[in-house]
Amino acid sequence: MNSRIPGFYKLSVEERLKRVAEFAGLDEDDIKAVISHGLPLDVADRMIENVIGTFELPLGIATNFLIDGKDYLIPMAIEEPSVVAAASNAARMARESGGFVTDYTGSMMIGQVQVTKLADPFAAKFEVLRHRDEIIEKANECDPMLVSLGGGCRDVEARVIDTIVGKMLIVHLLVDVRDAMGANAVNTMCEKVAPFIERITGGKVYLRIISNLAAYRLARAKAVFDKDVIGGEEVVEGIMLAYAFAAADPYRCATHNKGIMNGISALMIATGNDFRAVEAGAHSYASMGGYKPLTTYEVDSKGNLVGTIEVPMAVGVIGGATKVNPVAKVSLKILGVKTAEELARVAAALGLAQNFAALRALATEGIQRGHMELHARNLAIMAGAAGEEVDRVVEIMVKDGKIRLDYAREVLERIRSG
Ligand code: NAD
Repeated sequence: MNSRIPGFYKLSVEERLKRVAEFAGLDEDDIKAVISHGLPLDVADRMIENVIGTFELPLGIATNFLIDGKDYLIPMAIEEPSVVAAASNAARMARESGGFVTDYTGSMMIGQVQVTKLADPFAAKFEVLRHRDEIIEKANECDPMLVSLGGGCRDVEARVIDTIVGKMLIVHLLVDVRDAMGANAVNTMCEKVAPFIERITGGKVYLRIISNLAAYRLARAKAVFDKDVIGGEEVVEGIMLAYAFAAADPYRCATHNKGIMNGISALMIATGNDFRAVEAGAHSYASMGGYKPLTTYEVDSKGNLVGTIEVPMAVGVIGGATKVNPVAKVSLKILGVKTAEELARVAAALGLAQNFAALRALATEGIQRGHMELHARNLAIMAGAAGEEVDRVVEIMVKDGKIRLDYAREVLERIRSG
C-alpha cells in the first residue's frame, strides 16, 4: 500500500476515511469508532475519577511517510492547525530520497528506588551491587507475564547523589518492558524490591517510581532532503542557520523542540499513549549537558540536507489506555504497528519530519501564512460561509491581508450580493 496520496487534503472527511480504511483494512466497527466520537462514557468513567464527559480533538492523517522502506499513514490527534499538513509535506520531500531510516535501542526503562538515612552510602551502594542478582530475581517475581514475553528486570545500577539534605543512594532497576510503556510494571518492581534493599543497606526507602528520563530507550531517525526538492541552496542554508540558532540559544531551542513534539505528542494522543511521559523524557534528555535540539542538521558532500533525531521514546502498544480507548485501537490499526519498537521508530521519523517542516517554513516564508490561511477558513465558516464560498472568502481575506471576523462577514455579503 502506498501512503503517497496526492490531493488527500482536498477530499471530504468521508472520502478520506474511506481511503484510510482501504489502506489499513478497517472494518465497520473501526469506522464507527472513529466517526461516532469513539470513547464511550462508561469506559471513560472507568479510566479516571469524577468523570462528567469526554473531550475531543480532531484526528488527522499525515500522508506520504516512507519509513524503513514501509509506507505509513500516521494518525495525529491535535488542535493546532498546519501540523498535519507540515508533516505530510516533509514526508513527501523525504521520500524522494528514500524516506526515513530509523533505529531503536530497545525497550529498557529505569525504575528508581531512593534510599535515605544512610550513615555509609558508599558501603550501601556496594551491598546493593553485590546483591544484584537477588534484586533482579525479586523484581522479576512480580511480572511473570513480562518475563515470559522475554522482558523483565535486566540490571541494577546504584549512584550516591548529593542533595540539600545530604547524601542519598539511588538504585536503578533497568527493566525491559517490551511492548508496554512500562510505568506500572516498573513501579511494581521498585515497590517489590524496596524492603530487601532496606534490609541489605540499613537505610530507609522513600520513593519507588519509574524515571521518565528514558535514556536507555532511544528512538532515532535519519532523512536526506534533496536540496532541489526542498527549494535550493538558499533553503538549505536557511535551515542550517535556524538549526545553529537553536543549538546556541535555549529560548529558540525550546521552540525548536516543541515543534518536534507537535508531531510526536499528536501521535501519542492518537494512540492512547502517555504523552506527558514522552514530553518529559524528550525535554529532560535534551537538557543533559545543557539544553540542546533533539535533531541535528548537516549538509552532505552533494549539498543535500541530512537531518537526524534522537529522542527517548517510552511508548506502548499494550497497557495504559492504548487498548481501552477504541479510537486509539483504530489509530494503531491505521499505523499497522504491532510493537512498541515500531511505534517508537515511526514517532522518531514523525518528529524529524515535523521539525524539518517547521525550519523550512521559518527559513523561507515564515509560518504565519499557513496558520493564517487556516485561521481564515475558520473565520469564513464562523461568518456563515458554506461550500465554495469558504474558499472565496479565504482567498479575498488573505489577498487583502485582513483576516478578521468582521471582514469575513463583509466579504461574504459582497460575494452573495454578486
Ligand atoms: P500496564 O501495567 O497496563 O501493562 C503492562 C503489563 O502488561 C506488563 O507488566 C505485562 O505484565 C503485560 N503485558 C502483556 N503483554 C505485554 C507485552 N507484549 N509487552 C509488555 N508487557 C506486556 O501498563 P504499563 O505500560 O506498565 O504502564 C503504563 C501506564 O502507567 C500509563 O497509563 C501511564 O500513564 C501510567 N503511569 C505513568 C507514570 C509516569 O510516567 N511517571 C507513573 C505511573 C503510572
